[in-house]
Amino acid sequence: MVLPLELVDETSFIEGKVLDTALFSLFFGGMIVIVLYNLSLLIFTRDLSYLLYVLYLLSAMFYVGTMSGFGQLVLWPGAPPFSARFYTLSATLCFLTPLLFVVRFLQVRQYGGWVWHITWVLGCYWITVLMAVLLIPEHAHWLFMEYVALPYCLISLAVTLTLWARGNVSARLFSIAWITLLGFTVIHLLALWGYMPLNRLTLHGQLIGMFIEFVLLSMALAERINLERDQRIAAQQLALETSRSLADEREQHLQAKQQALLIQQRANEELETRVVARTKALEEVRHGLELANAELLRLSSTDPLTHLANRRQFDQLLEDEVRRGRRNGTPLTVLLGDIDHFKRVNDSYGHPFGDECLRRVAAVLQQHCQRAGDLAARYGGEEFVITLPATGGPQAVLLAERMRQDVERLELDCDGERVSLTISFGVATLDPQAAAAPLELLSAADRALYEAKRSGRNCVVEAADLGPDGATVFA
Ligand code: GH3
Ligand code: MG
Ligand code: MG
Repeated sequence: MVLPLELVDETSFIEGKVLDTALFSLFFGGMIVIVLYNLSLLIFTRDLSYLLYVLYLLSAMFYVGTMSGFGQLVLWPGAPPFSARFYTLSATLCFLTPLLFVVRFLQVRQYGGWVWHITWVLGCYWITVLMAVLLIPEHAHWLFMEYVALPYCLISLAVTLTLWARGNVSARLFSIAWITLLGFTVIHLLALWGYMPLNRLTLHGQLIGMFIEFVLLSMALAERINLERDQRIAAQQLALETSRSLADEREQHLQAKQQALLIQQRANEELETRVVARTKALEEVRHGLELANAELLRLSSTDPLTHLANRRQFDQLLEDEVRRGRRNGTPLTVLLGDIDHFKRVNDSYGHPFGDECLRRVAAVLQQHCQRAGDLAARYGGEEFVITLPATGGPQAVLLAERMRQDVERLELDCDGERVSLTISFGVATLDPQAAAAPLELLSAADRALYEAKRSGRNCVVEAADLGPDGATVFA
């Protein structure tokens, strides 16, 4: 019963009823629209916030339905047993469901601190009340909900205002919605207590406040859809930019890598070219050195005047041939030749002509050394030595004789004057079994040569085979 009462005539009463009916119809119609709208959003987004909001809307409709009597009239006629408690139940739901909705939608838990703790305590309180109303309705009044209701509304407002201050965009519309509801409720109460005129507007103030609140909350939900879409677009944009910059970075990295590879390749090629050039130069130097070495060897072992082997080469070769002769069991013969009276040639025709004579004699001797292993060398001054491996005494004597004759036959001409030369030979053969040394072989040849000189020159004298003790016996 709403006090104070007033007496009205029938016409005014019917007019009032029509107005009330229209107002409630508008309220319920509007609420149904909002419920359906949010249900469809719930289906599309599957966001629990919309479900909680719809529960809140239904609770409010339940509460208004109970308060106005439309519920009993239309929805639950015949007053079922529990309907006496519908007022308490719907009021409890009207406190609990918005609290759950706020916790979910404004993400109160994230903010922690007193905001979260007080919300949590209030939530527990309203759940306890709901249980009490449902299970032990006769004792529910011990929870003093009528005293808690107003502080609860103010605390809720403080919570949403705090969240708004902390940057929660949705909390702004929530705060405005709560203030509107509270404002209209206060107007309604003031009118009931006689501080304001009691008319249709003040009487149904809470209803209007509630409706405005729900419209504002729907706007908050819609705003959040926009916000989320913007955030999604921004995130997509960011992802796109990140992937683009990543691709750019990868491209740059690839280019740098390719460039480094190119530089390395070029450096390798250059290095290779230089190595090839250096190797070629080294090869040329090595070849030049080899040639120079060969030339040096040739020069160091050749007599420059006659181009025969020199004494050095001969000495080396003689030792080798003596060893080889012993190994193979073959004799080794040495011819020692000396130009007769050469001093006179020099004295008579000059030293240059003497040199020419030496060259010509050398050529004759070289001509007769055709077998492999035969070696003609200049022994010193006008003396020559010829090594004949695997050659016995008689054979060597024959060869020496031919040489002697060829020297004698040489046609030498000095300033139109015919000059003749003769040569004497000493021949010595080393028996492979003999223990004689190379020096002894040479001494034997030298002694034979001496013998040739002594016996008149221009002849060949052979030393007898060297005996086992190296002694020389002349034939
Ligand atoms: P013999 O018949 O006893 O051998 O008398 P010979 O004059 O040939 O002997 P000797 O040893 O007294 O003289 C050798 C001469 O050979 C002396 C030197 O002038 C000459 N002779 C040595 N080496 C060379 C040379 O390289 N060139 C020239 N032109 N003469 C040289
Ligand atoms: Mg001599
Ligand atoms: Mg001589």
